Amino acid sequence: MTPASPLLEDWLASFSLEPFLHTHVTVVVTALPPHVLHDFRSDPSFSLCDYEPSHLPAHIPLRSPSARGPSRCVVLKRTLRRRPENFIRWVIAHELAHAHLRNAGRHAGEDPEHAADSLAADWGFPRP
Ligand SMILES: [Zn+2]
Repeated sequence: MTPASPLLEDWLASFSLEPFLHTHVTVVVTALPPHVLHDFRSDPSFSLCDYEPSHLPAHIPLRSPSARGPSRCVVLKRTLRRRPENFIRWVIAHELAHAHLRNAGRHAGEDPEHAADSLAADWGFPRP
């Protein structure tokens, strides 16, 4: 695995994820194809956040509403910490795939869930 570049680290740190999620997100993001990473990093409305489901109602931080366009927020449950590593990474990749595809399929008529799993597998994170 290639270490994340300092700029990539700064970008990921800006989301203030739980340390265990930050570690897994770094692994997944580092494996993304350059054009996918560019899609996220060039979008000021893209964000990643986590929340503790047992602490509902959760305050889910969102980027300022002044950001242009619909926000793309990937929300991760902190309860993922209890799951196996390959499952956690698949969930992160699957959610990032939805964000990249803007919750659609890759072509008209494709099931968005199938598309997200297929893309996650392409990136090296198949559904466990
Ligand atoms: Zn999904």
